[in-house]
Amino acid sequence: MFELVLRGDCVVTPEGVEACDIGIAGGKITAVAERGSLTGTRVIDLAGRIVMPGGIDPHVHCDWPMPSGDGGAPAMTEPAAVVSRAAIHGGTTMMIDFVRCIEGDSVADAIARRDAGWKGACHVDYAFHLMVEGDIAPVTLEQVAAAIRGGHPTVKIFTTDITPSRKGRMVDFGDIWEVFQVIAANRGLGVIHAEDNDIVMHMYAKLFREGRTSFVNMAEVHNALSEDLSFRRVIRLAESVRGTALYMPHTSAATGVAAIREARARGVPIYGESLHQYMLYNAEDYKKPNGQIFHTYPSLKSPSDQAALWGGTLDGVINCIATDELCCTLAQKTRGVRIDDTTGGNAGVEPRVALMYTEMVGRRGYSLRRFVDLVSTNAAKIMGMYPRKGAIAVGADADICVLDPTRRRVITAADLHETDYTPWEGWEAHAWPCLTLLRGKVVMQDGVLTGDLADGQWVARTIDPAIIAGPVPL
Ligand SMILES: [Zn+2]
Ligand SMILES: [Zn+2]
Repeated sequence: MFELVLRGDCVVTPEGVEACDIGIAGGKITAVAERGSLTGTRVIDLAGRIVMPGGIDPHVHCDWPMPSGDGGAPAMTEPAAVVSRAAIHGGTTMMIDFVRCIEGDSVADAIARRDAGWKGACHVDYAFHLMVEGDIAPVTLEQVAAAIRGGHPTVKIFTTDITPSRKGRMVDFGDIWEVFQVIAANRGLGVIHAEDNDIVMHMYAKLFREGRTSFVNMAEVHNALSEDLSFRRVIRLAESVRGTALYMPHTSAATGVAAIREARARGVPIYGESLHQYMLYNAEDYKKPNGQIFHTYPSLKSPSDQAALWGGTLDGVINCIATDELCCTLAQKTRGVRIDDTTGGNAGVEPRVALMYTEMVGRRGYSLRRFVDLVSTNAAKIMGMYPRKGAIAVGADADICVLDPTRRRVITAADLHETDYTPWEGWEAHAWPCLTLLRGKVVMQDGVLTGDLADGQWVARTIDPAIIAGPVPL
């Protein structure tokens, strides 16, 4: 007798799609058996629904500073409480955010402060990437090493200041070389925001000189050549430090896709992420009313870049589709109007799973298995959480998203739980989550939140040695 049995006829398991019962006890999946064979205190019949592991968004920024625009104190984006509530409604049960290691007295202190902001204040399970910035002191390297071993194995590094006003983000190649040695020695994973700072800053200066400062020109600044040069330079550096594995977040251009593909062919352990808006919007969309709402750094690119990103999802080069969530109001998102002051990030954690189901399974004929890999399972595998997360299998956390494919709906901000706008306004979703479980607890059913802010727990992570040893086919 199980606490809860989910009775499905379309369950996405590691093997494929099956009709089966899922037995749940103590927050875990304790049995996956022939449909109709398990008995439970509570049985939920999910015939006609798609039962999949909960979505995992490996790239969000909650409670994150945004430039104020007037030189004053930065406004903060919505906290985990708000973003995770939206996530739960959208079938996402795990998010990975960031800790800025420059804050506080030490890396451990920065982690503790960040975690204090989430504990008891988050509806979903969570983890943090370490983010190192600027000049990196030897003592910081030692602290990063300890944090990697302590369950925070992913380290974000910027190769650019992004905009002229954000000086101090960029880590120079000497320091990145040092960080890579720490990552390799401690079995971490480098998460690299790779843009060529010389090209980006040159283009800012050039466009300012020419008076073309509108954000609609963003793709000329954060351009495909920058991605090409920077990805390849980062990859070469990583190849020189044996055991350095890389994850390339927000890959936006065909050049980036090609660099990852070629590196994988050489045996480099490298994995690619793109973002929902890069897949579905391009630089022409900046010209729409409030075109800033589609923007995230680096930038939207061309239709041929989008085609390359989609191609990458089919041959294992683009492994995860994230949001780069920065949840703020429309007024905040559209306050910046220039190439150097437009806010990055996006509101999308709620519609991400349904939108990607629609675009992948509904419009492009992807298998359910590949769709689930791209929105959940691969992130768990790459980020050191598999098979605890990202799998409907015995022993896994009972984190489950149930999609109702009979529930077509047009996405509109008023129906979502994030903010007062959505970049997906008017998009029709071919399915919508009707049930979300977090570690066996029903936290959302038929659009009604039944979980609470104490549900979310920090998840300690360890990168699978296979992920580091070579490019695992995903
Ligand atoms: Zn970034
Ligand atoms: Zn980001």
